[in-house]
Amino acid sequence: MVFAYDTEVSLVEAAMLVNTVDSDGVDALADPAGLQVWLAQHPFTGVILGNADEVAEVRAVRTQLRRLWQVADRDAAVPIINDLLAAADARPFLTRHDEWDWHLHVTPPDAPLAQRMAAEAAMAFLELVRADDWGRLKTCAADDCHDVLVDLSKNRSKRYCDDGNCGNRAAVAAYRARKRAR
Ligand SMILES: [Zn+2]
Ligand SMILES: [Zn+2]
Repeated sequence: MVFAYDTEVSLVEAAMLVNTVDSDGVDALADPAGLQVWLAQHPFTGVILGNADEVAEVRAVRTQLRRLWQVADRDAAVPIINDLLAAADARPFLTRHDEWDWHLHVTPPDAPLAQRMAAEAAMAFLELVRADDWGRLKTCAADDCHDVLVDLSKNRSKRYCDDGNCGNRAAVAAYRARKRAR
């Protein structure tokens, strides 16, 4: 493990949130029903309203999080992370829920969903800054894919997103190229 377990989970969840819009602009979070489906697979504790404003706020957080993959380095990420923390009105406290042992939350359970998501992500990204390990954030190496990923491998060798197809297609293309070369 590279970072604390909850940090790694939060980073991967942030990447999956960013990836809810695909390269063609198809948005899994287009409406409250879409958000509900997503939350069923990516559970979040606390209040969930299920209305249009909430989805819009989550999409706005998603846009901010994507910027973290676009900045040149961690120095450029710091203002974004600080903004997320300030907007979250962060007040750290220890909590224990579901299968999770004591860990840090920085927003009360009745804070808006988007605010809690932003705060949790910010708390994870700041660990990347502290560890000077911003290079863990990558964009899928496939030409036609703009999905983001968090490379938590020991040798930092991860290149493709988690949807499986990109890595496979690249392997097939490389195989064909080798065959042609022979
Ligand atoms: Zn928690
Ligand atoms: Zn991909």
